[in-house]
Amino acid sequence: MADQSTQQPGMLLIISGPSGVGKTTITRAIERSEVGSVFSVSVTTRPKTKDDCDGVDYRFVTEDEFQAMVDGDELLEHADVFGNKYGTPRDWVLEHLNQGRLVILEIDVQGATQVKAKLPDAYAIFILPPSEGVLLERLRARKREDEAAIQRRFAEAKREIEQARSGDVYDAFVVNGDRERAIAEVQDLVHKARAARAGAAPVSE
Ligand code: 5GP
Repeated sequence: MADQSTQQPGMLLIISGPSGVGKTTITRAIERSEVGSVFSVSVTTRPKTKDDCDGVDYRFVTEDEFQAMVDGDELLEHADVFGNKYGTPRDWVLEHLNQGRLVILEIDVQGATQVKAKLPDAYAIFILPPSEGVLLERLRARKREDEAAIQRRFAEAKREIEQARSGDVYDAFVVNGDRERAIAEVQDLVHKARAARAGAAPVSE
């Protein structure tokens, strides 16, 4: 268990990365290891799959419900990803930040850009595959889609990586080759970022 205290000021942690890069595994590992951390459950219009748990992975809503949240200015950010809408409920995030929590958002580059514009103190990490070839293998290994859909995701992943690299939204890039090593690297970055926000010296260099 990491030495993180809920007495520290809240921090918004954004984790992004292309499909198949393993960001959900990393995100959930950070949620478990960091005391005082909470995962922001996004709302989405995408159909629920058998692997999804409503209210835990996402809150599944209709197009009308989503639009009502946009019109009511209830979302911190929202974006269209692969033809479906995704958004982050704003009040929930702000409440938990005010309580000194580490609030984790697993969102795409468009969403990260919007959040950074509103809350520049957010800390954003982009997870990279070790190579394009490995990413393609991982997308195929999930056995979720046919080859045409895999190729579309692969093209989208390459575009997203390019977009993330060319912008100034991300504070750090972590390569997920070895899963445990990538988790440790993200933990270390998070500890340093929280310590910096607390005005203390980083715990370790
Ligand atoms: P999936 O449907 O495969 O879980 O997620 C598809 C993509 O949507 C991923 O890149 C994921 O990070 C992104 N995503 C999930 N929730 C949100 C959100 O609330 N806002 C934004 N902008 N992207 C999201």
